[in-house]
Amino acid sequence: MPEKLPQLDRDTLRQWSVVSYPSLVKELCSLFIGPELIPRDDLNDLIDRAFSRFRHKEVVHLSRLRNGLNVLELWHGVTYAFKDLSLCCATQFLQYFLEKRKKHITVVVGTSGDTGSAAIESVQGAENVDIIVLLPKGRCTKIQELQMTTVLRENVHVFGAEGSSDELDEPIKAVFADVAFVKEHSLMSLNSINWSRVLVQMAHHFFAYFRCAPTLDLHPPPPVEVVVPSGGAGSLAAGFIAQKMGLPIHLVAAVNYNDIIHRTIQRGDFSLSEAVKPTLASAMDIQVPYNMERIFWLLSGSDSQVTRALMEQFERTRSVSLPKELHSKPSPLLSGSRLRSQVPGGRAGCWADPG
Ligand SMILES: *Cc1c(COP(=O)(O)O)cnc(C)c1O
Repeated sequence: MPEKLPQLDRDTLRQWSVVSYPSLVKELCSLFIGPELIPRDDLNDLIDRAFSRFRHKEVVHLSRLRNGLNVLELWHGVTYAFKDLSLCCATQFLQYFLEKRKKHITVVVGTSGDTGSAAIESVQGAENVDIIVLLPKGRCTKIQELQMTTVLRENVHVFGAEGSSDELDEPIKAVFADVAFVKEHSLMSLNSINWSRVLVQMAHHFFAYFRCAPTLDLHPPPPVEVVVPSGGAGSLAAGFIAQKMGLPIHLVAAVNYNDIIHRTIQRGDFSLSEAVKPTLASAMDIQVPYNMERIFWLLSGSDSQVTRALMEQFERTRSVSLPKELHSKPSPLLSGSRLRSQVPGGRAGCWADPG
């Protein structure tokens, strides 16, 4: 993430408000990926290629429900997870640089479902990439397990492991901590703190805003509330960065029983609960939302020292009480809400639990 965020003026917002979703992604990426890294024509081609297998002609679609409520349909990719959108772009960028440098890498991913399927889909058949996916046996949904285990490509390697996805993270963490091993085998991960994924996800917020805002001619432009189902807080961080660039959105983080983001925003309680609680929304069953680090950095006025101290304390004690400035309540820009979805086996349903 760059030290200083670009600021968008009203004219830019107005221009962006009438373009397609892929064009928005191109405009956004070009602000952060200069032509010395990827020339604009190449960047456009990579992004077009990334979205070429999506089922909806607009790629992303805003559905209008009743009473001003809208749903952003981010599920038109091959695996139906919104992660298809950002992972397809991230792996196009990755392959671009690998081809240029004549290199090969092996992506290692631990997953409870959505990330694994989407990561496999985005690199299956790629020449310079192998992918190893580790999944907790019996804990992914059936359809996702099938999505992962039925891809017949030489560069895709999928393994089932005993235990929960948190337990699975331990050996993966140990592998990546062994710097010499990682270098020798050219390993990389593609998890939700990957900056290019967050970057592409910013486009979701812009797209939603432009389709929902009644007009851009008011001073200031009207705000739009965006409710973000959150787990690792990648989408939330993307929205927060978009907001800092000048997009007038109000973010609401929605979580399930695994509510660390909610507690952090509401009362500065950035602490682990005892264990991950399985819910129907397994992609949100996350204990440690690492992208909160980006949000802390922005809330602290880009103070890297404060942010690092917070994260180091969290690594040590698994529990941090945030200073007041970082969770001013009620925050005009960011709020949290816990949605309780029942655990598998129960009747599907959820209810809101604000505050
Ligand atoms: C990944 C995922 C989430 C959580 O997204 P974050 O950006 O990590 O907060 C929520 N819902 C679904 C369906 C997902 O696939």
